[in-house]
Amino acid sequence: MGETRNAYRILVGNPEGKRPLGRLRRRWVDNIRMDLREIGWDGMDWKDLAQDREQWRALVNTKFLRTKHETTDKYNLCGVYQMTCKDCDLKYVGQTGRNFRKRYKEHIREIKTNGQKSKFAQHILDTTHNYHTIDKAMEILHIEKKGKMLNTLESFHIYELTKQNLQMNEALTDSYNPIYDILIKINQAQEI
Ligand SMILES: [Zn+2]
Repeated sequence: MGETRNAYRILVGNPEGKRPLGRLRRRWVDNIRMDLREIGWDGMDWKDLAQDREQWRALVNTKFLRTKHETTDKYNLCGVYQMTCKDCDLKYVGQTGRNFRKRYKEHIREIKTNGQKSKFAQHILDTTHNYHTIDKAMEILHIEKKGKMLNTLESFHIYELTKQNLQMNEALTDSYNPIYDILIKINQAQEI
């Protein structure tokens, strides 16, 4: 954890950095360079990517704050969530600035009323699959206030699902994002 904490400080504190290069900082930079090389973006300076603070912060949040939220009132909070179908592996990623429970009920209402406002509901209706109760269907990915950060986190998770061919959301318009690709690789490396 010590090393990741340092990576966190480097990314959030001062991504372009005027401080002297310490050992941990250099190691982190080298990792980013390696990741860029692997995805064929070795021509791009990682510092160019780091200038997009919003996406770096999303990266850091996803890497460090994607924890299991097991508090009893978690569904009263807001943020980014994922809904999984009961009968297949497809998932829907969404965000809410109100609370998760309300959002879940809205998806279910769309199913019951044959509505057009929910991609999750559309999947259930189109396939005649079933849906789980909230505790099994809805996974909280990030607890976060409404704002730009919520959009970035949501778009990252949709991107990730798209790469896995597991998404119910609309196809993405921005089809390639090198920062997200690096992030996915980092997350995969952590899971091993
Ligand atoms: Zn399904």
